[in-house]
Amino acid sequence: MNFSERFAPKKIGIDLGTANSLVYVPGRGIVLNEPSVVAVSVHDNAILAIGNEAREMIGRTPDSIVAHRPLKDGVIADYRVTEAMIRGFVDRVSGNLRLRKPEVMVSVPAGITSTERRAVIQATMKAGAKAAFVVKEPVLAAIGAGVPINSPAGNMIVDIGGGTTEVAIISLGGIVASESARMGGDKIDAAIIAHIKNEHNTAIGERTAEDIKIAIGSALPQQHEEMYEVRGRDLATGLPKTIQVHTNEITEAITGQLKEIVQTVKSVLRETPPELAADVMDRGMILSGGGAQLRHLDQLLSEATGVPAYVADEPMLCVVKGTGVALENLEIYKRSIMSKH
Ligand code: ADP
Ligand code: MG
Repeated sequence: MNFSERFAPKKIGIDLGTANSLVYVPGRGIVLNEPSVVAVSVHDNAILAIGNEAREMIGRTPDSIVAHRPLKDGVIADYRVTEAMIRGFVDRVSGNLRLRKPEVMVSVPAGITSTERRAVIQATMKAGAKAAFVVKEPVLAAIGAGVPINSPAGNMIVDIGGGTTEVAIISLGGIVASESARMGGDKIDAAIIAHIKNEHNTAIGERTAEDIKIAIGSALPQQHEEMYEVRGRDLATGLPKTIQVHTNEITEAITGQLKEIVQTVKSVLRETPPELAADVMDRGMILSGGGAQLRHLDQLLSEATGVPAYVADEPMLCVVKGTGVALENLEIYKRSIMSKH
């Protein structure tokens, strides 16, 4: 590979997640993995930073800077900011030398409207792409998890991200049944914040709530609980304090959120044609996305639905790995690609 090829990739795959965005370049692998955050100046609406740098600004910056998560609830809330984010990522992996424009593949939520899809394509083209390929996120997650999506059988994927849970049955490269719920890691964290406030009289931030979830969270109650110490602000005195939190109180605090995920999975199973449902029973459902890493979520889902559930390898990387595989095999996956410009 010569210098210009190294710095101006021909193809770029982007997992535009509600919590994290990842970029894949064929031949190089995953070249970027950063939070989907954009820092904007309030005065002149200028875009100040993207990704890690923008996330570091949250809560630590003057009022004149706000941090946006443009895809927070799974829909594109702000096109200008989304476009800036796509451009920022493309620029960063392309380096200074832009000898040629790359072909860019972007993941989109399965429930996207045609207007939203056109907007993503437009944003990608404006960000400097030669061609924009849009593929539904559950399809990419399945490809990245190694599911043979082009087979004439029913394959079920459940992707649990920060803002959304996307459930789909895929057969012959296309989605046969799907549902997308605005439920995911963010709302689980919010439920933990509410619990700590109500039961421990203590205020904690989003990051602390996420730390608790990752350190001791479980989808099912445990006989041997784990304990975690967190620092927050005492709501009575206003002063800092340290409290101890245990696994089962967290499980109880997030039951409602987990129930919604279970309901979404059940609802897709009910929509699945009988012949494909038999395949799903045999093969089980594959869990991807960061939320799939919650302890015992696979067990909860299999017990609630009767369908075995398996967590994919490196679940947070499935979608971006899927863009890599699809970009390298455009012909094989053409049925799954929604658009080419
Ligand atoms: P998105 O695709 O929406 O950007 P990701 O797939 O990157 O989302 O997943 C991010 C979510 O996964 C966050 O809500 C994060 O808290 C959650 N998460 C990450 N690791 C874990 C873990 N070990 N246990 C539970 N949740 C996790
Ligand atoms: Mg995702």
